[in-house]
Amino acid sequence: MKSGKKHARIFLSPPHMGELEQKYVAEAFASNWIAPLGPHVEAFQREFAATIGVSHSLATVSGTSALHLALQLVGVGQGDDVFVSSLTFAASVNPIRYLGATPVLVDSERESWNIDPALVLQAFKERAKIGKLPKALVIVHLYGQSANLDPILECCREYEVPVIEDAAEALGATYKGRPVGTFGRAGVFSFNGNKIITTSGGGMLVSEDRRLVTHAFKLATQARDPAPYYEHSQVGYNYRMSNVLAGIGRGQLRVLSERVAARRRNFEFYAAALKDLPGIEFMPEASWGTHTRWLTTMTITPAEFGIDRDELRQRLDAANIEARPVWKPMHLQPVYRGCTALGGLVSEDLFRRGLCLPSGSNMSPADLERVVTTVRDAARQPVLTRAVS
Ligand SMILES: *Cc1c(COP(=O)(O)O)cnc(C)c1O
Repeated sequence: MKSGKKHARIFLSPPHMGELEQKYVAEAFASNWIAPLGPHVEAFQREFAATIGVSHSLATVSGTSALHLALQLVGVGQGDDVFVSSLTFAASVNPIRYLGATPVLVDSERESWNIDPALVLQAFKERAKIGKLPKALVIVHLYGQSANLDPILECCREYEVPVIEDAAEALGATYKGRPVGTFGRAGVFSFNGNKIITTSGGGMLVSEDRRLVTHAFKLATQARDPAPYYEHSQVGYNYRMSNVLAGIGRGQLRVLSERVAARRRNFEFYAAALKDLPGIEFMPEASWGTHTRWLTTMTITPAEFGIDRDELRQRLDAANIEARPVWKPMHLQPVYRGCTALGGLVSEDLFRRGLCLPSGSNMSPADLERVVTTVRDAARQPVLTRAVS
């Protein structure tokens, strides 16, 4: 497959800068605001909150740190259980462990690939009887799509379990017309390099609860008490975003809706160009919201498609195209072995057969064509070992 190497590599989800980022970064340099805090941080927080329609926000060094703060501030601590989707990136679960708590890993439903409300409801009912309700529930909105929020929120309201939304992959997605990240006690976003907008690294914590965000601010700045000298009555962190990176974030925020539109166009192109191939199914768009298609993901049925997910990924790689397997569920991860899993078969199947295609908002029509051609060629080629025998 040497011929593929003539082409530049097509990455899964590379950064895509707009026109204003460098201007804002230059402003930070010109004013020597190279510190955490500073005018861009303030403005980025304000503009971000306004964009998704939430009252309070705190810019952080990463999505992971924002989730860590959120979990701590809803009261998660040593020995607590926290419910979370199993089909996700490890960063949704690791902060539960930072606090000495134990994740309970919940399977996905087919309709959205997100946490299955029926499993949550059933488990809450049983746990309420024995006084073992979890301290919090983390809802992950996977690959740019909202989870089925109403039944989960209703269940959490009934049993008084606080909800944190991990919307790291879903900035711009909506549930019944309202942006995700605004439904729980707190919402968390990421601006890592591969996300729909990026500050190279960064995150945001949002909430309607002013006290929660004020407390998060304090914890994120080494938990300094208000005193003229350095006084600390709590263990804090160094989790604030730098003013330089917030400048990038402000520029990126301006083009968010264009980025969502471009990613959705990628998906529509793939879906139309591959729809006649047997054995390919795209992640469904559930009826309740807008999927940003941060990543276009699909499952392969090898008996119909001709080759399996791994072989297809390797064919794409040989053509210098980056594609990645769907997240390996947390209940299958060595680090979370022994944690309680509720169900698991759906996420295991999605992991085994799922592939994420290149989805950058800066992909050219030629890039998209190249991916489609490679997938189509792969579908027609019999597997070598089978062809020989
Ligand atoms: C990227 C991501 C995070 C973590 O964000 P970072 O900014 O990389 O720390 C958390 N959860 C999910 C689902 C993610 O995809």
